[in-house]
Amino acid sequence: MGSRIRTGNLGYPRIGENREWKTALEAYWRGDIGEAELDKRLQARETENWLKQKAAGLDVIPVGDFTYYDHMLDMAVMMGVIPKRFGAVPGRPVSRELYYAMARGREGAAACEMTKWFNTNYHYIVPELGDAQPELLWNKPLEAFRAARERAGIHGRPVLVGLYTFLKLSKGCGPEEIGSQAERFLPVYARILKELEAEGAEWVQIDEPAIVTGLAPGDLRLLQRIYGSLAAEAPGLKLLIQTYFEAAEPLEELLKLPVAGLGLDLVHDGGATLRFIERSGWPEDKTLAAGVIDGRGIWRADPEALSAIAERLLAAVPAERLLLQPSCSLLHVPVTVRTETELKPEVRAALAFADEKLEELWQLGEAAGGGEAAEQGKSRAALAVLRALPERNRADVAALEAGLTEASERRSESFERRAELQRLRWKLPVLPTTTIGSFPQTADVRQARLKWRRGDWENERYQSFIRGQIREAIGRQEDIGLDVLVHGEFERTDMVEFFGEKLDGFLFTRGGWVQSYGSRCVKPPIIYGDVAWGGPMTVEETAYAQSLTSSPVKGMLTGPVTILAWSFLRDDISRERIAGQIALALRQEVLALEEAGIGMIQVDEPALREGMPLKPDKREDYLRWAVRAFRIATSPVRPATQIHTHMCYCEFSDMIDAIDALDADVISIESSRSHGELVSAFEGNRYRKGIGLGVYDIHSPQVPDTESMLSGIERALRVLAPGQFWINPDCGLKTRGWAETEASLRHMVEAARRARAEL
Ligand code: GLN
Ligand code: ZN
Repeated sequence: MGSRIRTGNLGYPRIGENREWKTALEAYWRGDIGEAELDKRLQARETENWLKQKAAGLDVIPVGDFTYYDHMLDMAVMMGVIPKRFGAVPGRPVSRELYYAMARGREGAAACEMTKWFNTNYHYIVPELGDAQPELLWNKPLEAFRAARERAGIHGRPVLVGLYTFLKLSKGCGPEEIGSQAERFLPVYARILKELEAEGAEWVQIDEPAIVTGLAPGDLRLLQRIYGSLAAEAPGLKLLIQTYFEAAEPLEELLKLPVAGLGLDLVHDGGATLRFIERSGWPEDKTLAAGVIDGRGIWRADPEALSAIAERLLAAVPAERLLLQPSCSLLHVPVTVRTETELKPEVRAALAFADEKLEELWQLGEAAGGGEAAEQGKSRAALAVLRALPERNRADVAALEAGLTEASERRSESFERRAELQRLRWKLPVLPTTTIGSFPQTADVRQARLKWRRGDWENERYQSFIRGQIREAIGRQEDIGLDVLVHGEFERTDMVEFFGEKLDGFLFTRGGWVQSYGSRCVKPPIIYGDVAWGGPMTVEETAYAQSLTSSPVKGMLTGPVTILAWSFLRDDISRERIAGQIALALRQEVLALEEAGIGMIQVDEPALREGMPLKPDKREDYLRWAVRAFRIATSPVRPATQIHTHMCYCEFSDMIDAIDALDADVISIESSRSHGELVSAFEGNRYRKGIGLGVYDIHSPQVPDTESMLSGIERALRVLAPGQFWINPDCGLKTRGWAETEASLRHMVEAARRARAEL
């Protein structure tokens, strides 16, 4: 028997099997528990994670990936990057209060912005460099390293975000400043490492995912400078530069960096990376941390394919310098399949969440070392069953896909012609007012849904409750004086779950949560089969709302790209094809709504931007199929039917053409939070279709005054033609209460009236 190949992990879900992490944080924020109790609970969580990974037989266990909120916020706080508005005293360690104030805001100091962590659905707190004086306020990985030793008997591998990635993701650090900022932060960063070295750490995992998004000119030199300096400062510490989410390029150059190891994603475009390693050989001074198990996906790995990769790796890299890992932190998958006892067994058997991935790793380590790996047979069998499921091989769906022609993606008339017909049909005032779709999901609404789900309420009772909510919402909207109304989405929990439950091809877990931001977790549905329309999903509620009013009611759907982005996907067919199947299903819903007399239909695509590939050279292809999916879903309607779309928090400047190509008659986008940056994206007026710039931020409970909205409208009107401009809040209102919603919308309608009068 050979000896097993070493295995390691890059990060483990923080939330716990029952989201204990979330419960603890929220209890603390509510004031139900104090700091000591919070510490106790979170430390117990962290220790449990360590022990679990230890029990899984991992050789390398990450420490310091755990957090009280977010790992980027931790990096900022460690190095003294605290925006002035929080009034921190220089040199003083950051209190819990200050830490959470940065994350969530406090009276008089707005929260730091958050944004997506690369192409995941995890959001990090964006560091604001400003003129922060770098200083070491907290050596978090050192604390974690010690704690893991004391509480779990583990000699862990401390994890840090690399300085390059930290700076790349920070505000106020453009390409011109990054070099000088790196110089300012290097001493602090070096001190963190020196302290780890002194404490006896052997390896340190330095996450540099920004590398995979493509190096700018000068970045290689910068990386050389950063790692040359760090390696010299802490010569006894082995530095592992860890990349993930895509292939790291140019490898030949990255391999020259003066560090002891490089961590590579061998799942995403892994073939090319592997061939490179085989061709050029692996340098003798480095360890390869090979990400062979998909850290983002939820399916078991095919053991044969895995073993083949391991074999090729072993031919190129000596076993003692090879470490088998997931392709990225397991933060992005749920904790375990173990508790999913109600899931369709054929699917369940083929799933691997974090704990199961650790098992797979262990098995792989054994198998690659020539040992016995009994579980691998099980995986193979489970995957074969999954592949053969009839839901994955539907002839009716294949026929619909085959029937698509170019005409299926095109509206029958040009935008100009449609706009004319729509104007005649609706006779709306200039600067029409509307909302983005949802109205407050009050405790009443949530309780009603719970009772119905539990079976305490029959369908009839629940439906009549929902109808009551719709009636009330329509009444309020008429009273407020909005021009285009919505039914309010009271029957929906979440934009994707609602549709997933009605479409074929989706499954839902009981506890498959992943962290989205802060304590917020999401439970993405699993697309395991061909997606198909099984009958109307939204027609009843929308038509009912329309029957109550003579104003137009907008139908409300979630778009194909967003449903795709917020689900776990099958991995046997392309994303493009799954998006096409969802689009075909939505197309039937769109037609059903039109048939029922709904003349405006909004297809939300808030995730269009986040689906963008990290690699610039993959973006065009993505946008091509994403736009196509939207058009398949929306283009069969009559010219006088108005298609709306909505996106939130997007950076638009680099995708105006794609947005134009969606060919939606009206788009509404966020703009109140990014302080009018979006307006400038539309400067030059290439975009001629209808556009609603959010005039107030729905994420705050504050009621905006008429004046501030009016000035936002006036600013937008300097760039946009009045005939093109709609007035709306920047997103749905489901998280707000009715009192602030009504007051805000009244102010908004008033601002629109005054703006019209000024025209
Ligand atoms: N129509 C959805 C709503 O109003 C849109 C939500 C979103 O963009 N995230 O809730
Ligand atoms: Zn939105």
